[in-house]
Parts: sequence; structure tokens; C-alpha cells
Amino acid sequence: MRTTHYTGRFAPSPTGPLHLGSLLTALASFLDARARQGIWLVRMEDLDPPREMAGAASDILRTLECYGLHWDSEVVYQSQRHALYEDAVKTLLQQSQAFYCTCSRKDLQALDARAYPGTCRGQLTIPAQEHAIRVQVDNSDIHFNDALQGDCTFNLHNDGGDLVIKRKDGLYAYHLAVVIDDAAQNITHIVRGSDLLDSTPRHIHLQRLLNLPTPHYAHLPVIVNAQGQKLSKQTFATALPQTDPVPALFACLQALGQQPPAELRQASRDELLGWGIGHWSLAQVPHCLSLSETSLARR
Ligand code: GLU
Ligand code: ZN
Repeated sequence: MRTTHYTGRFAPSPTGPLHLGSLLTALASFLDARARQGIWLVRMEDLDPPREMAGAASDILRTLECYGLHWDSEVVYQSQRHALYEDAVKTLLQQSQAFYCTCSRKDLQALDARAYPGTCRGQLTIPAQEHAIRVQVDNSDIHFNDALQGDCTFNLHNDGGDLVIKRKDGLYAYHLAVVIDDAAQNITHIVRGSDLLDSTPRHIHLQRLLNLPTPHYAHLPVIVNAQGQKLSKQTFATALPQTDPVPALFACLQALGQQPPAELRQASRDELLGWGIGHWSLAQVPHCLSLSETSLARR
């Protein structure tokens, strides 16, 4: 893989079609990469089949194309990369940083704690019964500087505790896969939603254990509606239209604080994106992103 000063990515989970909220994330990551002459990749995070929707992966890709968000290099599918994740799990077990956890859901619920208390730490032989695999966390603060959220500090020991890297059902955890793949794809800059802000210290912890570089992070603010209420992922259930990308792109640029001139509402998709790349400024992204689905209609 080519190395560059900037490689960004959009990493959707194919749990449904692309909606306005995920378009906003994709667009911000795309513009940040293109404005810096960077590479922009798409990775399909199809790691959790029970949560996936048939056809969603190809539908998401078609929508990205329709919206002019063209990616470089082939799309990477996590479902095809289990061997890499398994290698990392083995390495962490060999380094005694991971362990087999046989706690049942009931055990864990009974603890009623904010963090896994380390019950199974040191268990390094494969147990006969059902088990997850966890990685140990330290009781020390993890700091990082987020380009949008500023200085962040987390203590994983108090918040969540030793984290699951392979689930009881045999599926690899998002935290593990994302860290392996960001490194394998030489990702230098990650722009994503702030729902993942508290995942970042977990990623940094795993990067350190696996000797992988830590990319730059920018977590987009939460999206609110016109009344200032936080919107859940479910709120944006409606799939994006595949016919006229301009209204939604314009609405996203506006929500991102980029102040596109009104006449661009009549522009072509590529003119609008070209303007977005030329004028992109992370510093203009507001603390709250206000976006509503009514903006999808042409005015
Ligand atoms: N696949 C994750 C999601 O759709 C995003 C992962 C990431 O950007 O790190 O929520
Ligand atoms: Zn346990």
C-alpha cells in the first residue's frame, strides 16, 4: 500500500442504507482528505452478520457513488480479514495481555459495576466452557488531542474495564478489527461521529499493545434537530434518495458550518463538492450539528 501524508477513510457498518447522518460523516471525512490532497478509502465493517441487512453494503457503495464521494483503491471488507484479527488475538494472548473470560452474562450483571473487575485475568488456557477473550486495561489515564473535541482523557480501568476483543459467539470485536485495519490501510486521519469518542481510548490502548501507530482523530459533534434535541441513529432511518444528491450535500455542508453560498443550491453535484473541497475548514465545524430531513427536498 502507498504511504502518504494523509490517508482517511469512511467505515460504514452495513446495517442499513446510508442516511443523512452517515452521509454527513462520509462527506466530512472525504472533504478533509481531499482538501489536503489525501487518499480517501472506504472500508465495509461487516463484522457482525446478525446486525447486518442483506444488500446494505452494495447499497451504501452505490449511494456514495451517486453522491460523488469516490474512493481510492478497492473497498476492504472486514468479513474477509478474520485471519488478521485472529493473529492479533493470538499475539495478545501470547503476550499475556489478553485472557479467556468465562463470566456469564448473569455473572457480569450481578456485579452491577461500571467496569469489568478483572475476574478472569491470567486465565491463559482455553477453557472447556463458552468464553470470550478480553484484553487487560491499565489503571492509568489515556490522553489524546482530538481535532474537534480538544483534549480528552479517559481511564479504561474505571470505565468498562478489560475489553472484549473476541466475543463468546466467536465474532471479533469492532475495537480490535478497526485498530488492525486502520493500521493495515495506513490510515493517518480519522474523521467520524462523536458516538465513537469513548471508543478512541480503547483503540489507542490496543494500538500500544500491538505496536501500531495512533492516527489523528477528529470526532464530529452530535447531530441535533431544529429544537436542539440530540438525534439518535434511529431518527435518520430514511434512506437517501439516489436521484438528486445536491440538496442533501448542501444541507450537510451547511450543517458542517461551511456556509455554502445559496446559489450553489442550483449547482451540479461536482461543482458543489469542488466548492466544498476548496473551502473546507475543520475550524468552522460548530459544536452542535443541526440537520433535519426536511432539507432533503429541493428548494
Ligand atoms: N463502523 C462504525 C460505524 O458505522 C464506524 C467505525 C469507525 O469509523 O471507526 O459506526
Ligand atoms: Zn471473566
